[in-house]
Amino acid sequence: MTRRIIIAGNWKMHKTAEESATLAKEIVAALKAAPSANEVVVCPTYVALDRVSSVLAGSGIALGAQDMHWENQGAFTGMISGDLLKAVGVTYVILGHSEQRAYFGETDATVNKKVIKALADGLSPIVCVGETLEEREGNITEKVVETQLRGAYADISAADARKTVVAYEPVWAIGTGRTATSQQAQDVHKYIRGLLASIYDAATAESVRIQYGGSMKPENAAELLAQPDVDGGLIGGAALKADAFLGIIGAA
Ligand code: PEP
Repeated sequence: MTRRIIIAGNWKMHKTAEESATLAKEIVAALKAAPSANEVVVCPTYVALDRVSSVLAGSGIALGAQDMHWENQGAFTGMISGDLLKAVGVTYVILGHSEQRAYFGETDATVNKKVIKALADGLSPIVCVGETLEEREGNITEKVVETQLRGAYADISAADARKTVVAYEPVWAIGTGRTATSQQAQDVHKYIRGLLASIYDAATAESVRIQYGGSMKPENAAELLAQPDVDGGLIGGAALKADAFLGIIGAA
């Protein structure tokens, strides 16, 4: 099965709407001049989504959000719904990012509610899983990833699971400059694919794309992306500069 590589930039809490539009324009222009076979997604802050959406129109680059709530609307101060995201052209949504888990009380149960709602809204979730350094050193990486994955996909059908992307992001590699070796990444990606096969079936597991995230940059992207079960990257720091992000897209 050939899975199309998916490279997504998570711009986190960086860049004004103006700066985001400028970065998006640089990426659009470069990929127009040298088209890529890879799927490309950018995930700016909420306040920049509308501007970036206009810049991306017709480019083939997809727009993603960094989170969403599991309700449609209502008294949920500070939150954003799938409907509101869709209205500005969002098609992907990052869910369960380790920063959401660490700082904002995200749990496997809330990730699951968000995944269910995103799919109901027609959005493709990018479901993040990954262990902390302590968990890796305690040899419980697989257990942690299994709990997170089973939690996120509870009550999700195989047909819906195929619309999702999994992002394996070892927490110790995020924003630290410390990348998993390509073998470490491949081992966990293969494990995740096996889990998907046991939750669903082999065909579903083969069709779900599994991104690696954690200090991916142009220098290490080619080797990581050459692994058989690494189907793309979720990029933080290196997605904030057009050259670096394009370098990763080019390396894929
Ligand atoms: C991320 O936060 O999703 C991420 C992978 O960040 P970085 O590339 O900066 O490690």
